[in-house]
Amino acid sequence: MRLYLCRAPWVGHGGAVMNGEFSITLLGTGCPVASTERFGPASLIRAGARQFLVDVGSGVTQRLIGADTNGAGIDALFVTHIHSDHLVDLYQLIITSWHQSRDRAHVVYGPPGIAKFVEDCMDMWRAERELRIAFERRSSVRAFDIEVVEFSDETPLIDEADIKVTPVLVDHRPVEPAFGFVFEADGRKLVLSGDTRYCGNLIDAAKGAELLVHEVFVHRPGPVAGTRTEEGAKGVASYHTLSSEVGRVAHEADVRCLALTHIVPPDADRQGLIDDARRDYLGPVVVGEDLMRFDLVTGTVTQGNTTFALA
Ligand SMILES: [Zn+2]
Ligand SMILES: [Zn+2]
Repeated sequence: MRLYLCRAPWVGHGGAVMNGEFSITLLGTGCPVASTERFGPASLIRAGARQFLVDVGSGVTQRLIGADTNGAGIDALFVTHIHSDHLVDLYQLIITSWHQSRDRAHVVYGPPGIAKFVEDCMDMWRAERELRIAFERRSSVRAFDIEVVEFSDETPLIDEADIKVTPVLVDHRPVEPAFGFVFEADGRKLVLSGDTRYCGNLIDAAKGAELLVHEVFVHRPGPVAGTRTEEGAKGVASYHTLSSEVGRVAHEADVRCLALTHIVPPDADRQGLIDDARRDYLGPVVVGEDLMRFDLVTGTVTQGNTTFALA
């Protein structure tokens, strides 16, 4: 892991220190491409006593255990957009949370279409699930109750004294709508880009954030590796943010720290990513890794047994 530090102090916004945590753990920093190192897109946000998930990419339930929690403890799931890499383990989250003795309904916030997606997903496994319920005889089936909230604008989804969660419309066309999220707690702001090309609306929403967690796509001129054609690679690149653009996003939003996630390809050279972002942004740039945890209260990042200060 490489960190580049800016001179500006991380903690400078004043306000009372929150009783508890405000952190994000990157559960999966990959993309649709299968990788043993970078699982599918998913993030865990802890705010006070609550735990939120953003997206449920491949391997999310395993990574939740790696982050010392599980699907039974998740208070709400926020879905950025309906692309398989962000949703493929939804049912895995639900069925596993039942095994983990969840005794309350799941709450899912997502863009239009998410209600039908959840319904279809539950329908597909209905017969199999009924057999399990009948034979396993667990104490509660509440984990199979799903409260779905569809949203299509930027009205806050949670707006309470200690936590505010606001969707931000981003540009991931042809997938419409697609959203990022702003989490605010303890006078601090955490912004997740979701999947997007360079997007002015996201930059406006991220202004002054302590941490911007942004997707990134490496597209370099020259021969295209693997099974992809150059035209296909350009097509996919067109609705993501290039590594050569993501530093400009962080600079224009004037964020305290930039963390890269949704790394395409998952085996992208880390130093190359940092070098690209550093051309336009002088703050700390962190290449995200699965189970890396950013603590917004202390201004530190932890990977394994190692903790770095971000100031
Ligand atoms: Zn994606
Ligand atoms: Zn996408």
